Amino acid sequence: MILYQSTNRNLVLPERKAFREKVSFREALLTGQAPDEGLFVPDRIPVLSYSDILALKNKPYTDAALLVTYAYLCDEIDRSVLEKIIIDSYPFGIPMELVSEKLYIMRLDQGPTASFKDFAARMMARLMSWFKGGEKRLNVLVATSGDTGSAVGEAFRGVEGINVCILYPGNEVSGRQKKQLDTIGDNVIAISVNGKFDDCQNLVKEAFADPELAHLNFTSANSINFGRILPQMIYYVYAYAQLADEGEDIVFCVPSGNFGNALGCEYARRMGLPVRKLVMPTNENDEFPDFLARSRYKKISPSRACLSNAMNVGHPSNLARFFELYGGTVDRKGIVYRMPDIGEMRRRIFSVSISDEVTRKCIKTAYEKYGILLEPHGAVGWRGLELFREKEGDSGLAVCLETAHPAKFPDEIIELLGMVPVMPESMKGIDERRGVPVEMDASYKDFKKYLEENLE
Ligand SMILES: *Cc1c(COP(=O)(O)O)cnc(C)c1O
Repeated sequence: MILYQSTNRNLVLPERKAFREKVSFREALLTGQAPDEGLFVPDRIPVLSYSDILALKNKPYTDAALLVTYAYLCDEIDRSVLEKIIIDSYPFGIPMELVSEKLYIMRLDQGPTASFKDFAARMMARLMSWFKGGEKRLNVLVATSGDTGSAVGEAFRGVEGINVCILYPGNEVSGRQKKQLDTIGDNVIAISVNGKFDDCQNLVKEAFADPELAHLNFTSANSINFGRILPQMIYYVYAYAQLADEGEDIVFCVPSGNFGNALGCEYARRMGLPVRKLVMPTNENDEFPDFLARSRYKKISPSRACLSNAMNVGHPSNLARFFELYGGTVDRKGIVYRMPDIGEMRRRIFSVSISDEVTRKCIKTAYEKYGILLEPHGAVGWRGLELFREKEGDSGLAVCLETAHPAKFPDEIIELLGMVPVMPESMKGIDERRGVPVEMDASYKDFKKYLEENLE
């Protein structure tokens, strides 16, 4: 059975006792984070057979989902139950656009909140509901820079026995993102924090670590939860099976913020997917490309507010998992205790920082040159992939992920391209929805008081 252990398990620190136990997927899913503030990682990565991967060609997405997730969950859930969860999670498609020879855009924007986060959130919500059983209430706390919150909120809306509390930086989300967050309602509370995304993330992390709130039975739906990472391995396997010839390898380009999405690709490679390179462009929060270039890690604090706002992260939470996979250790404050094998990292991963100015230019040229419509996150990805191909002279099969629907960023598209992006079905009527958030300063004292008074 695959068990889950903390990325901090080997640390010896005066202020914190390392968590050295191993837990089941169920426990990792329901608690979200290890008690020592490390992230749960599997103690073994299952390997898929190459012929099973190839056999997914022309099969529905749900087949790929079952193959990938059952490899991790086979000892904890029945295959037939898992299959039902998967079918319920993915009632939408994944458009792949051929841009030029061997070069594709994979659009992960057909879910209810039009971002790739729907893929993970919907499956995680259903896994949590099933694994939780009929016991105590669960309270899901989420810090979001825009898209996580609405995806998680929508995914959990109406789910019995679970409340969701979403914190977002009031001034850093777009008007439509704010609408999506404020209007979910039901068992989902939105809190607009007067601060940055990192402040929201810190409030959530502090609440998790607070023994006086233990009775509230918190869990996390951020990408610190391994239940979010697992579904994010699926579309890489699916895309490979649809697009690659037998024996061919592939480059994936993943516009990155907290690195949860790219981590899905890293795991997929380690499960046997022939990934030649993982390209991870960031916006002006360039701590990771800078680390790969200079072998020294320095987080960016406070994070820089860029157009691709869901990637405004100065210290990616999943960096701890990347370090772990490459033999290193870094904690949530950004302190490096053990360096990863950086030579191996450079061989496997390419990262580059894309400025807002270049992002804008890219939206324009991608449209004029290829007729592809990108929003700011996808444009960071696309430009990063172009730079990778130029720099390494790579012209093989490559897929760039477009992580949100352009209609979520109408102002940029109107300004740059002079056209109004067509809304996907899921977003129609959004401007008319009504709902007000709870307003709060970035103070843990206030947040704690609110939680104590409003959650059970
Ligand atoms: C969250 C998000 C990202 C960043 O994904 P990570 O897993 O945090 O790296 C990129 N694009 C969009 C649209 C997002 O919502």
